[in-house]
Amino acid sequence: MTSANFAVHAEAIIPVSGPENVLKFHSIVVREGVSDELMPNAQARALSDIEHLELHGHVLMPGLVNAHGHAAMTLLRGYADDMSLASWLNDKIWPLEARWVSPEFVRDGTDIAAAEMLLSGITATSDMYFFPDITAQSLRAAGMRTQLVFPIMNIETAWAKNAEEYFEKGLALRDYFRNDDLVDIGFGPHSTYTVDESLLSRTAMLANELDAAIQIHLHETAAEVLAHVEATGERPIDLLARIGLLGPRTQCVHMTAIGSQDIETIAAHGAHVVHCPRSNMKLASGACPVSKLRDAGINVALGTDGAASNNRLNGLAEMQSAALLAKLESGDPTALSASESIRMATLDGARALGLDHVTGSLEPGKSADFIAIDLSGFNMAPNHQVESNIVYATSGTEVTHSWIAGKNVVKNRQLQSLDSDALRHTAADWRAKLSAKS
Ligand SMILES: [Zn+2]
Repeated sequence: MTSANFAVHAEAIIPVSGPENVLKFHSIVVREGVSDELMPNAQARALSDIEHLELHGHVLMPGLVNAHGHAAMTLLRGYADDMSLASWLNDKIWPLEARWVSPEFVRDGTDIAAAEMLLSGITATSDMYFFPDITAQSLRAAGMRTQLVFPIMNIETAWAKNAEEYFEKGLALRDYFRNDDLVDIGFGPHSTYTVDESLLSRTAMLANELDAAIQIHLHETAAEVLAHVEATGERPIDLLARIGLLGPRTQCVHMTAIGSQDIETIAAHGAHVVHCPRSNMKLASGACPVSKLRDAGINVALGTDGAASNNRLNGLAEMQSAALLAKLESGDPTALSASESIRMATLDGARALGLDHVTGSLEPGKSADFIAIDLSGFNMAPNHQVESNIVYATSGTEVTHSWIAGKNVVKNRQLQSLDSDALRHTAADWRAKLSAKS
């Protein structure tokens, strides 16, 4: 598909907006990178001024939104497993990062992450990591829609010596990408245990001035909340509310250790929650009460977190895990239906990132960010219900095509914007480097 104007004809389309959940035997028409119209196959096939692609046995849906990740950490996948969050961070991840994180590490890890994300249907990703300028360049080159939240910490790292430098570099990055269609820059204060109140307040003030997104790891474990309460007499979420950091532009990542008062606080401030089910399960951090949050009217998005704590960056797998965990956590099999899970992984994710006017659903005027999923596998047979199959029956490898802003980035399961063979060599080089000297 080389033309900017084309139609893809599928067995079904899940638009994630409008009155119908599933449109059978429909096509999407794309003009100049924009989703122009959804229409029955016969009507679309009759259009003569555009290119046509037939995808028999496929369903089209909006690209998945990964609302929280650390792409470069792909290089640490499987390096330290089966540990608690505190010892995993303190004994393994942070020492290794202190020794190895560099622009090259971030570039190579991000490229591999982009490959995995694209092949599993993720078209937009949020990222929080050091050298966000390098991450932005890599994801931009891969053609992905991206929200970079630049890190803010009280800790010296390879990217910045002190708070001043974190803000200076982060704001310069925001300035650099201010007119970019695919890259948005926000603030990423790491957590309330690595960022002090004065930096959090400064973040709140600047983000408010610039109308920028804020993302923070929050209430990830009960131990984190307890330690904060013991030290300050205040719950982390209440600190954010008190200093003006909690609002409709704020993305609270994890939120496993929360009670009804916390839920009221999030709802009252219109903040978003980013649920990372696989990372939370693997680190035994706890389970985010997704149903209670949704019942309180809170928007909940979905994130993979980094490959060091997941260990997949697979959009379909994350959606499946969220649906299953919501039922287990609530003791209610009706919690987070297939249809609701799909919405959480698409439009609700875009909403959390403040990008729902651009992406997250297939409707006229939005960017043509969409994927094709092959329904012909035996794991889908006999395909009674498309949404059920996508959420509960996929193995994570069924995405055959992906378009971002109308550009074809995955075609017949092959990456179009990245060199797969080169990435395999890069991964092998890092395996040798990290195992030799770590
Ligand atoms: Zn994280």
